[in-house]
Amino acid sequence: MNVQTKLLFYEDPYLKECKAKVIDINSNIVWLDQTIFFAESGGQESDRGTIEGIDLLDVRHDDFGHILGKTPNFGQGDTVTLILNWNRRYKMMRLHSAAHLVYFAVREVIGELEVIGSHVSEERARLDYSFQGRISDYFPQITEIVNNVVSKGLDIEIYRKPDNPEIRIWRLGDWETPCSGLHVRNTKEIGQIKLKRRNLGKGKERIEIYIE
Ligand SMILES: [Zn+2]
Repeated sequence: MNVQTKLLFYEDPYLKECKAKVIDINSNIVWLDQTIFFAESGGQESDRGTIEGIDLLDVRHDDFGHILGKTPNFGQGDTVTLILNWNRRYKMMRLHSAAHLVYFAVREVIGELEVIGSHVSEERARLDYSFQGRISDYFPQITEIVNNVVSKGLDIEIYRKPDNPEIRIWRLGDWETPCSGLHVRNTKEIGQIKLKRRNLGKGKERIEIYIE
């Protein structure tokens, strides 16, 4: 399928519900003219929710095919109601934003390290580093920097790169990084973070990020 789906979550990541027109259906896969459902990108998992009350199992990143729990009884041209599992999404927006703060705090405390993996789920965010030693030795300083930024309630800015509007930049003061994920507008929304270390062996260290 080659459907142009309008991605409403970039214009407003706080949109929890919308109507959309069905462009095409293939068994339990549905294509829409617009969507509030994020498809896995930048390590952030795809959204869950419902379309006309039917569970959304996944959203394909390549073509925005919405995979439903069963074949729907609505058809092409119909208008359907999309409802986002907001609790799950908001938790991921908060964790994803927290992961950026941790990344920059690591850079300030330890220096420039190679990130070899990252992921954001509803339970936690993680950053994997190539690093010799116990990265948790630095956790008190990293946690203090991040929680201080959270307490200050600073606005997070998302803007499109002027010479390449496809690329979105996440910015907080001097900290900025290209990112296609979804984030909160203000650091206060993240809440205080906790870090856990996991040793992945062979000079690989994982930082797990938790929030309330
Ligand atoms: Zn991001």
